[in-house]
Amino acid sequence: MKIGTQNLNEKRKKAIKEATADVCKILASDEFKQRVLAQQWLVSCDLINGQPDVMTGQQVFDLINKKIPDYSVHPRHPWNAIAQTDPANDRVAIKPARIKNWNATDKKERANLINTIAHETMHILSGSFRDGGHGTTECPDARLVSYGIGNLVEELWLASHP
Ligand SMILES: [Zn+2]
Repeated sequence: MKIGTQNLNEKRKKAIKEATADVCKILASDEFKQRVLAQQWLVSCDLINGQPDVMTGQQVFDLINKKIPDYSVHPRHPWNAIAQTDPANDRVAIKPARIKNWNATDKKERANLINTIAHETMHILSGSFRDGGHGTTECPDARLVSYGIGNLVEELWLASHP
């Protein structure tokens, strides 16, 4: 995937470019692959005929591996959220404060941008990857594609930046 930018100053452009390159590196890593394959994922928190909306690790991995479209990032303050994806236009809005995290010295703060980019990339990848109602016993973040992959990429990024 290629991520473009709109209406970002040079410093923010650089932040998105660098963080995106790191996310891509992790998405292409063997460790990431093994972790995705190791579990069954929730596509959304919906129930389909009373059953959880699931995908195998292989199905999720194949989508990530082959089909992430190019998209562009622009700064905006989405209402009540850190970021917001507009899949119809392949556009992701990220709060300027979150983009600014990249220039922090604290690695955990920097990792927040990694998590946000990986999370929003899942929404861009498929409109089915939704997360309304997440964070419940039936729909825990760790099993849901958007939150689970975002958190996994963050975890692997932190592990590779000790
Ligand atoms: Zn989301």
